[in-house]
Amino acid sequence: MISLEKLVRKNIWSLAPYSSARDEYSGKEAHVFLDANENPYNEPYNRYPDPLQRELKSALRKVKGVPEENIFLGNGSDEAIDLAYRVFCNPGRDNVVALDPSYGMYQVCADINDVECRSVMLDDNFDFQADKLLEACDANTKIIWMCSPNNPTGNSLNRDEMMKVIESFEGIVIVDEAYIDFSQQKSLRQELPSHPNLIILQTMSKAWGSAAIRLGMAFASKEIIAIYNKVKYPYNVNQLTQQQALEMLKDPYEVDKWVKILLSERSRLMQSFLELPTCEQVYKTDANFFLAKMTDAVAIYNYLVDKGIIVRNRHKVQLCQNCLRITIGTRSENNELLSALRQY
Ligand SMILES: *Cc1c(COP(=O)(O)O)cnc(C)c1O
Repeated sequence: MISLEKLVRKNIWSLAPYSSARDEYSGKEAHVFLDANENPYNEPYNRYPDPLQRELKSALRKVKGVPEENIFLGNGSDEAIDLAYRVFCNPGRDNVVALDPSYGMYQVCADINDVECRSVMLDDNFDFQADKLLEACDANTKIIWMCSPNNPTGNSLNRDEMMKVIESFEGIVIVDEAYIDFSQQKSLRQELPSHPNLIILQTMSKAWGSAAIRLGMAFASKEIIAIYNKVKYPYNVNQLTQQQALEMLKDPYEVDKWVKILLSERSRLMQSFLELPTCEQVYKTDANFFLAKMTDAVAIYNYLVDKGIIVRNRHKVQLCQNCLRITIGTRSENNELLSALRQY
């Protein structure tokens, strides 16, 4: 790996971060807080939240097995994606490399930050070869993005090829594991201590059923996390979100139960799709959705919208012609979708 100092933008490396009242003093022993210009009324909403979300990180450590100093928390994974550009990529000069098709935010955040995003097409099995990804890199490539299980295709990427990328690339490799709790594959979290160029993204938006609270996680070396912490907004994760996330983390077994139900509904739904005359193929998936190739995705999409059922039309995405992306719902929602399609 190239030294972190060379990978990080100069202005960010030398940045003196904003120091908030809650940074300068934090602790439970004091009982009179006259340091932050807060209003003493309207408890419990009157106080600024912990900028480093210490209690929440300590609960996450127990569930994820990652020390607090290796955890960044943000306003959804989307914040961690955007921060990667702002920390590592000089606008108008540096570039990143991503697989295509994949999650749209890698490209959008690149565009916002005036950074070139080079696409490397997945193969016909929606998988990839490390060499192809590495060949697309040059001296100005700062980040390689991989999403596994991948959105919108649903499959996990080949683990050996991912490891080859992580071990061969001299810059930062970010693996987005938004759907890892649904996957047969193990998270790459355990690779963090031996791979200081690796950043892993996870989220509470999918398996944890908490998209509304906006809580995303990045796991990385403590040096990278420290830089993220100085660039982020001081109070980027609000108090209500921290409280609700703590509540969710008290009962991780509830999440396991949801995942089990969703996986069994997924196989039932996929099986039923294969029997539909309008469905030509379903693709193997490791996520809480699957991609289905239909006879006429656009017409079927519009038909479903008319019935008040919304799926994701991916017809215009590379390699996904005539494909709909179907999120697994409750048993009755899935049945409603199926019976609508049977009447098409
Ligand atoms: C849904 C999703 C996320 C989650 O984003 P949040 O901002 O945490 O809600 C991240 N990456 C991928 C690939 C996703 O599909």
